[in-house]
Amino acid sequence: MNASELKALQDEPACAHNRKSKSGCVRAKPGATQGGCAFDGARNALVPIADAAHVVHGPIGCAGSSWDNRGSRSSGAGLYRIGMTTDLSEMDVIMGRGEKRLFFAIRQAIETHHPAAVFVYTTCVPALNGDDVPAVAKAASARWGVPVIPVDCAGFYGNKNLGNRIAGDVLLRHVIGTREPDPAPAGAEHPGIRRHDVNLIGEWNVGGEFWNVAPLFDALGLRILCTLSGDARFREVQTMHRAEASMVVCSKAMLPVARRLQEENGIPFFEGSFYGVEETSAALRGFARALGDSDLSARTEALIAREEAAIHARLAPLRRRLAGKRAFVFTGGYKSWSIVSAMQDLGMTVVATGTEKSTEEDKARILALMGPEARMIADNDQVALLEAFHECRADIMIAGDRYIYPTLKARLPFLDLDHVRCVGYAGYRGMLELARNLVAAIHNPVWRQVREIPRWQAPQRPTGPIPMPKPAAPAIVRSNKPLSVNPLKVSQPVGASLPFLGIARAMPLEHGGRGCTSFNKLFFMRHFREPIPLQTTAMDQVVTVMGADDNLVEALRTICEINRPELIGLITTGLSETQGADIQRTLRLFRETCPQYLATAVVPVSASDALGCLETGFAAAVEAIVRHLVPDAPHGKVRSLRQVTVLASAMLTPGDIEAIKEWIGAFGLQAVVVPDIGDSLDGHLIEQGYSTLTYGGVGRHQIARLGESAATLVIGASLDRAADLLKARTGVPDYRFEGLMGLDACDAFTQVLANIANTQVPATLERQRSQLLDAMVDCQFQLGGAKVAVAADPDLLGALSRLLADQGMETVAAVTTTRSPLLERLPLERITIGDLEDLERQAGEGDAQLLIANSHGTEIAARMGVQLLRAGFPIHDEAGAHLRQWVGYRGSRQTLFELNNRLTAQYRMIPPYRSRFWEGTPRALEVFDSSHAPEERQP
Ligand code: SF4
Repeated sequence: MNASELKALQDEPACAHNRKSKSGCVRAKPGATQGGCAFDGARNALVPIADAAHVVHGPIGCAGSSWDNRGSRSSGAGLYRIGMTTDLSEMDVIMGRGEKRLFFAIRQAIETHHPAAVFVYTTCVPALNGDDVPAVAKAASARWGVPVIPVDCAGFYGNKNLGNRIAGDVLLRHVIGTREPDPAPAGAEHPGIRRHDVNLIGEWNVGGEFWNVAPLFDALGLRILCTLSGDARFREVQTMHRAEASMVVCSKAMLPVARRLQEENGIPFFEGSFYGVEETSAALRGFARALGDSDLSARTEALIAREEAAIHARLAPLRRRLAGKRAFVFTGGYKSWSIVSAMQDLGMTVVATGTEKSTEEDKARILALMGPEARMIADNDQVALLEAFHECRADIMIAGDRYIYPTLKARLPFLDLDHVRCVGYAGYRGMLELARNLVAAIHNPVWRQVREIPRWQAPQRPTGPIPMPKPAAPAIVRSNKPLSVNPLKVSQPVGASLPFLGIARAMPLEHGGRGCTSFNKLFFMRHFREPIPLQTTAMDQVVTVMGADDNLVEALRTICEINRPELIGLITTGLSETQGADIQRTLRLFRETCPQYLATAVVPVSASDALGCLETGFAAAVEAIVRHLVPDAPHGKVRSLRQVTVLASAMLTPGDIEAIKEWIGAFGLQAVVVPDIGDSLDGHLIEQGYSTLTYGGVGRHQIARLGESAATLVIGASLDRAADLLKARTGVPDYRFEGLMGLDACDAFTQVLANIANTQVPATLERQRSQLLDAMVDCQFQLGGAKVAVAADPDLLGALSRLLADQGMETVAAVTTTRSPLLERLPLERITIGDLEDLERQAGEGDAQLLIANSHGTEIAARMGVQLLRAGFPIHDEAGAHLRQWVGYRGSRQTLFELNNRLTAQYRMIPPYRSRFWEGTPRALEVFDSSHAPEERQP
């Protein structure tokens, strides 16, 4: 493209730039230019033509980092998303083989993908090299009978805006006017309503947002001949010359297309926007006016009245939360005023707007909308922008993706309006999404958390854990169904057996039927993927009736003889409890009859199936371990300043235990964890191979010396009774934590450790904390306002629900297994003590987007069409899940990412809309998922 052609492209009589300063066509400033090149602009404008092949002719640099990075969506054809490039090598350039390579690249694209057309984008290197791309395109088109369109858009020609113009010029020269429109399908027109054919120019269908608007066109009898270029097909672009009116949507750069269609084909055009209620209505009125159809005008007014009434009613509660909030809009161009209008529709105050790419007309509209005090910012320097944001006391920045991370790093709310987003804001429905996202962004609780200094840097350094804020107590409802369906609850004996698996050289023994233990052993094996030492007294019919003392003594003797454990955990079950077994008496009998095994400790635990759940059984066993293994020592004995005890509840995974030990170790302290499943069930091989006992865990002798610890850290409210007993036995001060997920909980734990160790918080933890802060702001857009359903034992439910609330997420269904004082303190409206059937029903009623439950939630999630984040017991269908770290800064960060990714994976995008006017056309034959298509509006 020569200089005069480029100059002609920039000389657009319909553009206000021509009349005054060309603020939208500024020259690149070396060292301070951040926008894309002409190739980028041309590609952006044309790539949404969904059934064409888009071949980038050049080295990999141009296509390699840019293909498939547009948020434009298609209702069927997906060829536009396939990246294609000639990937020129050094030898191709030196040897002048570019044209030949391009010729065969076009052949491959046509033979493999059967495109409706091929667009060939010439980039800098072949342009510099002098490749004759038009000649290659002509030859290829003649050879294979497919239109091949050369797009001469070398990046060095200029900016993206120029690229847009080049794209429009290419379409006018090579595509528009090369075919007549399809006849309207029979039955597509509404009786008594005259159909009009129209064009939309510069509408990119980002995030599918135009599908919010398209049904309105059908209802008014407006057939969209072509949307240039969101969800467009090549054959539709060919027919644009037959439209009766065009609208230029938010893109000055495509004005030449509209202007030339007017000059050459007599098609009137107007400029408008679909952002905002008023702007959407104005756009519909614009068509009625341009088409000069009084009947259409009347129907348009009726439709607007209906749509506005409906959307205003739905926006009302969101408006109340946005009223008076101050928006800093930095979008530039057309959006500078159309977004201002949308913000004002929501009752917000726009305190400043960017005018980097705005025309004098755009600026005049801004002044009209915002008044003479309007602050217009043309400088895109990011530091200056943030300073202006603070000067304006703004609540949120609304801008393109270039500005996301600088703004988030500054801990400020942000709303993305770029072309790569998957969220659509156009039309009346789009306003609802926009308002929801603004509320979620502005009111997200992460902002408070990330702006506060760590509590250990506060002038008044706290000496103990800072109590969690007390929310209103939730309603706790017990499901009273006679039939428990898909039980969430796991029995107490299972829970009571687990702590013994975290003690070295131990063997849990369940006093009950062999079947119970067989199930329980398999349960643990599938969850931990480890051999599990677990034995049974194997009560049969006779001993169940006559008394099972002998079975119990024999079981203890056998285990001692064969396995030689240091400790046996003797756990009753529903059967032995119902039978009335007196295990204390039987234990005395064992000691009398087998004095040779006195060195083997036996810790009895009462754990009926008919009460509690896994968590309560676990807690009862920990309490029994303290009672039987920690001596009742007089207080005030010599303590180790470096040893701390950790009482770890059932909600902690082996990965959590490892992380807690490292956390404590970072302060130079030594943790003794009771029980330590992080040492025994962490999945490691031992030299001697298989063992019939546990593969590690806390030593019995270590438990006996818990009275020497400087402090006890209790993690999980379920262990309160065990903690009370330990404190009474040893006099060691304790610090209790209901969970270690989320910033506040982690900070509280860190601060206590710093106090115990009497030292500064290590730099590694400060770093991990700042990484969590970064994750919180990065994930807040996806997580804020997301609806989640959670099912777990009380401790885990508590830790998770606090983490979710901290991120601004809404727990719409919370189901747990048993009553606990903790439940009264959780930030939830309602908690059901029930089963997974209750979870499914409540999650459906609350429109949950994500489930958090054990592996039994898999089927429910599949039925609901949402994703499952596995947590709790059992997890048997995901390798390594039992080792995952939930606690600490790192664990919390990873959980946020997982929540974010799962929500992103199932984000309910705007469903594709298929116009009634497409019936019988080739587009109607494309694969199309109509299952969630929006309903057609009535005329
Ligand atoms: S400036 Fe040139 S080489 Fe760089 S991406 Fe644009 S077209 Fe490719």
